[in-house]
Amino acid sequence: MTAPRYDAVVLGAGHNGLIAACYLARAGLSVLVLERNPYIGGAAVSRQLYQDFTYSNCSYVCSLLRPEIMRTLELPRHGLQIIPYDGGCTMMRNGGHLALYYENHDALRREIARHSVRDAEAYDRFARDMLRQCRFIKPLLMRTPPDPTSFRPRDLMELVYLGQRFHRMGETRMYETLRFWTMSCADLLDEYFESEIVKAHLAGSSIIGTALGPRSPGTAYVLLHHYMGDIDDAVGAWGFARGGMGAVTRALAASLAESGGTIRTDAGAARILTSRGRAAGVALADGTEVRAGIVVSGLDVKRTFQGLVEPGDLPEDFLRAVRNFKIRGASGKLNIALDGLPHFPAIPEGSPSIRGDLHITDTVEMMERAYDDWKAGRWSQVPYVDMLIPSQIDPTMAPDGKHYMSVFVQYCPYEFADGPWDNEKRAAFGENVIEAIAHHSPDFRKLILHAEIRTPWDIENEVGLTEGNIFQGELTMDQLLFNRPVPGYAQYRSPVRGLYMCGSSTHPGGGVMGAPGANAAREILRDLGRGARN
Ligand SMILES: Cc1cc2nc3c(=O)[nH]c(=O)nc-3n(C[C@H](O)[C@H](O)[C@H](O)COP(=O)(O)OP(=O)(O)OC[C@H]3O[C@@H](n4cnc5c(N)ncnc54)[C@H](O)[C@@H]3O)c2cc1C
Repeated sequence: MTAPRYDAVVLGAGHNGLIAACYLARAGLSVLVLERNPYIGGAAVSRQLYQDFTYSNCSYVCSLLRPEIMRTLELPRHGLQIIPYDGGCTMMRNGGHLALYYENHDALRREIARHSVRDAEAYDRFARDMLRQCRFIKPLLMRTPPDPTSFRPRDLMELVYLGQRFHRMGETRMYETLRFWTMSCADLLDEYFESEIVKAHLAGSSIIGTALGPRSPGTAYVLLHHYMGDIDDAVGAWGFARGGMGAVTRALAASLAESGGTIRTDAGAARILTSRGRAAGVALADGTEVRAGIVVSGLDVKRTFQGLVEPGDLPEDFLRAVRNFKIRGASGKLNIALDGLPHFPAIPEGSPSIRGDLHITDTVEMMERAYDDWKAGRWSQVPYVDMLIPSQIDPTMAPDGKHYMSVFVQYCPYEFADGPWDNEKRAAFGENVIEAIAHHSPDFRKLILHAEIRTPWDIENEVGLTEGNIFQGELTMDQLLFNRPVPGYAQYRSPVRGLYMCGSSTHPGGGVMGAPGANAAREILRDLGRGARN
């Protein structure tokens, strides 16, 4: 039997693979997406694992998804609705709290001033400086990074574009930007604030998903990465995808189907086929072959090049750079079905904070100690916890009167100093997190109906993210822009002609943003002579 043939095969039905597939199909290519799991979505997935509860099993909140992608692929028409939430609360073990609602500026200032009047003044300056950084970086998200070593007109023009934008910031801001991109979040916050809880509240986003502590250089940028999204033009706002994060990939699948693309689930790629140095198709785990002149991988860079491509097809220096790409798992997650809404005495009665991001931590120092545990090869004894209860805003997530709680946990190792995960350790990890939450909510434990406990090892095995690293690779300066994923290959192409990368390992990195998928498709179409601009 002759192998089926497509113009392009995309590996992985994560959101980036689907976005790349959508753009290629809309340009008239015949496209097949191959997904290893029996369901689509990758880390943007909703699953029902317990009765009528829907879990956002991995990613849980939406902000980064580029609005231009939403518009072009008509995702709202295909069912995607993002419901913003406002604010949140950081709870300290001594009962202290900081409850912020960003929409009500006066209330926000009053709440910060409760801890420090000086910090209430500093907050506006901080927010303005973050916004300035966002303005600088946002236009770069949907552009292909230039190769600074190349003299091609396109790269030179792009370098000039970058330089001009940078220069336009003005001398002081230029120096600040360089510091910002490389400094630690703790150092950054110390320059603005004095109150421990204000700093701890803001520092959470600098460690989420990263194998670094708040005192590690580079974490100020990770903080920015979480600020650069928007919902309906509200910069930095976050929301829930109605129906869970799987709604994003469901809408993408519908958009792809409308453009004539096909998805096959339970179809794991085992090998990328090449012929005379060119991509020629994909061999599936069951031995089936699919032929295509273009292969686009949405898998992370290690999975793709260490797992699916013959080493002989790749230059040794490229393989070495892939081996050295930092992609370490440091996060766990619990998805919890609750019999009712838990009570948190620290959160004032009737406060909208309960509907936002609930953080458990006292100080930046406590987060750094939590990181020390990870470095020693164990989960954080006092973890940083980021919880949300989306069913308060999106009733599709849980039956009437019941609630779904998403609990993101930092830090959790991929493996232990003394060996791998087993069921007993997984349960103990989950128990440690539940205990941390129960400390702040006396009725929480008795409301638990079911808990899905996910370690970095589980995330790797279920989603395919190497070591469970949520961003498909650390978001540090040495792995950003023209260095992502490896120097010389930041333009979505690989050493094998016709083999492209479109996952979060590429610029501008992880999160449910979609820019890598859209940028990769643009480069592919350019190579096909259907050239689109940068
Ligand atoms: C626990 C967790 C929480 C997160 N929280 C948030 C959040 O709240 N907000 C946010 O914006 N981001 C969040 N993220 C990050 C974000 O979800 C990811 O960075 C992003 O979804 C990655 O998308 P991707 O398309 O690049 O790759 P993936 O989603 O990893 O897609 C890759 C796909 O390839 C498939 N695959 C793997 N191997 C093969 C193979 N051999 N053949 C075929 N298919 C294969 C996988 O099954 C998967 O579907 C979170 C991630 C995790 C894990």
